[in-house]
Amino acid sequence: MSLTGWTILCDFDGTISVEDVIDSLLDRYGRPGWEQLEHDWRAGRIGSRACMSGQVSLLDLSRDELDAHLAEVWIDHAFPAFVAKARGLGVPIHVVSDGLDYAIQRILGRHGLGDLPVSANHLAPAVPPQRWLLTSPFQAPGCGSGTCKCACAEQARAGGTRTLLIGDGASDFCAADRVDFVFAKHRLIEHCRAAGIPYVPITGFEDALELLPALLDGSLVGHPTLPAPLGSPA
Ligand SMILES: [Mg+2]
Ligand SMILES: [Zn+2]
Repeated sequence: MSLTGWTILCDFDGTISVEDVIDSLLDRYGRPGWEQLEHDWRAGRIGSRACMSGQVSLLDLSRDELDAHLAEVWIDHAFPAFVAKARGLGVPIHVVSDGLDYAIQRILGRHGLGDLPVSANHLAPAVPPQRWLLTSPFQAPGCGSGTCKCACAEQARAGGTRTLLIGDGASDFCAADRVDFVFAKHRLIEHCRAAGIPYVPITGFEDALELLPALLDGSLVGHPTLPAPLGSPA
């Protein structure tokens, strides 16, 4: 339950984690064919769900190799402090990701954050050994994404709280239109600017940590067009 009237939806890959987990796995363990799927997705011929389930079926690695790989994935160094701050202020955080649930839970667990709620695609071992299967429990009708973040945003809104989205890329674009405010990184900055979505640019959770109290006391939302704080790139 939110004590402040706000709920946070937070992307994982590129936002909490420094690199994209699926991309890093494909680079190392992908059998031929995953690049073509990536190409088709970038060209808009297939949705992210079709792209990723195809790519995951091309992975060739054991559970031990997967765990060893995930043990080396870095997260934003200020994310644990941000979670502690949000919790201290009574703001619930929900990780909404078009990535892999197993990877997210492993990586967050390493930082003592395994209890954060996560909505993501489900990664499961397949047959034969070394093969993997992706399913998408948070997909929505008419949406090509694995995890439909717009549906997650609508759901948060229906809960009666205002919603802050923290994200960095294409998987966050549709949700950004449906939330009350965005802390935007990378490509999401330009999307919010062009679409007139209330946002501030951030470079990471150190910025988010500083901005959160201003969001909660209303001073950020009233001034969505303020110049970038904290020396972030405009
Ligand atoms: Mg991302
Ligand atoms: Zn969607």
